[in-house]
Amino acid sequence: MERKLDIIPVGQWNVFPEGTRPLVIAGPCSAESERQVMETASALKAEGIQVFRAGIWKPRTHPGCFEGVGEKGLPWLARVQRELGMKVCTEVACKEHIDACSRYGIDLFWIGARTSANPFLMQEIADAMQGKDIPVLVKNPVSQEIELWKGALERLNRAGVRKLGVIHRGFSSFEKQIYRNSPGWNIAIELRAQYPEMPFFADPSHMGGERKYVAELSQKSMDLGLDGLMIESHICPDSALSDAFQQLCPAALSDLLSHLEIREMDSDCLDYREHISELRAQIDMIDDNILEELRSRKKISRQIGQYKKEHNIAILQASRWDALLEDVVRKSAHYGLSEKCVTAIFNAIHEESVQVQNEVISNHGFGNLPEPESE
Ligand code: PEP
Ligand code: MN
Repeated sequence: MERKLDIIPVGQWNVFPEGTRPLVIAGPCSAESERQVMETASALKAEGIQVFRAGIWKPRTHPGCFEGVGEKGLPWLARVQRELGMKVCTEVACKEHIDACSRYGIDLFWIGARTSANPFLMQEIADAMQGKDIPVLVKNPVSQEIELWKGALERLNRAGVRKLGVIHRGFSSFEKQIYRNSPGWNIAIELRAQYPEMPFFADPSHMGGERKYVAELSQKSMDLGLDGLMIESHICPDSALSDAFQQLCPAALSDLLSHLEIREMDSDCLDYREHISELRAQIDMIDDNILEELRSRKKISRQIGQYKKEHNIAILQASRWDALLEDVVRKSAHYGLSEKCVTAIFNAIHEESVQVQNEVISNHGFGNLPEPESE
């Protein structure tokens, strides 16, 4: 269900430098020692980074791993703020974390993927955020459930958190694949379309899981028009106590950022604007035609359903569908269309057609079934 969120634009958060893209948050997966925090933050600051991250409480999948230094790391972040003039952020997962961070003046919170998947915790966090003016970025839940992600945002927003944004870090997957978390970009695109005003970050470090993937995933995030990047960076990545494989040293992070190609989101150029509107009008027209054709196809499906019913024939004839799909795939190759895309579209069309025929067959008084008004 669509619910509007009341968001304050990121430019008014007083966290990120004005007018830059990408907005960058960088720092180690975990704060490990005061020295590691200060050395990493100083090196990042020297590379122009202004917002520093470090996990204080670490949600680890298995017990017995390094679970963060806890509250004793908060004064280290306060020192980064004070001595280096950087903004600082950390992950919060319960009321106690929020209270402790508020005492130390942490500038920005993020909610981790294991927490945003839990409505009880999200409600506890939302309640604890009431009356606080601290921005919150919500990572996507570990599973591909956009509604769970939206629900977490709604809870915070209802509690009065208007400095609200998201971080896309990919989704857990049982199947082995190249990235640590599968990107599921379609979900990010869908959420972006629903809340275009909401600051949108990507976390290529947790998505990729290995240093070598961070650059390509950062570039992809920029190509999709996302606003910012949260990237893990450690003064000595190989010795990191958590996520050692995916952290970059500050110089490598800086190199990555300087090589990103950032395309403009829009242009004031009149020529561009006129031409793009023309092309968009053509696309709109084609989309209308596709809808018309789908409507005609549905009408025929209904007739086929009726006909099968009269002759007592089963709805599904797999061989007919296989042949049709084979033909479509062959033609799509000829037209230079992607087989994956065309197959997905036609499978969806087929599913709808089976559904329509099912309705016809299970409706005993089909002869009187009203046609949709527009037909
Ligand atoms: C993190 O940012 O260090 C972290 C634990 O991330 P996620 O919740 O995305 O796994
Ligand atoms: Mn991490």
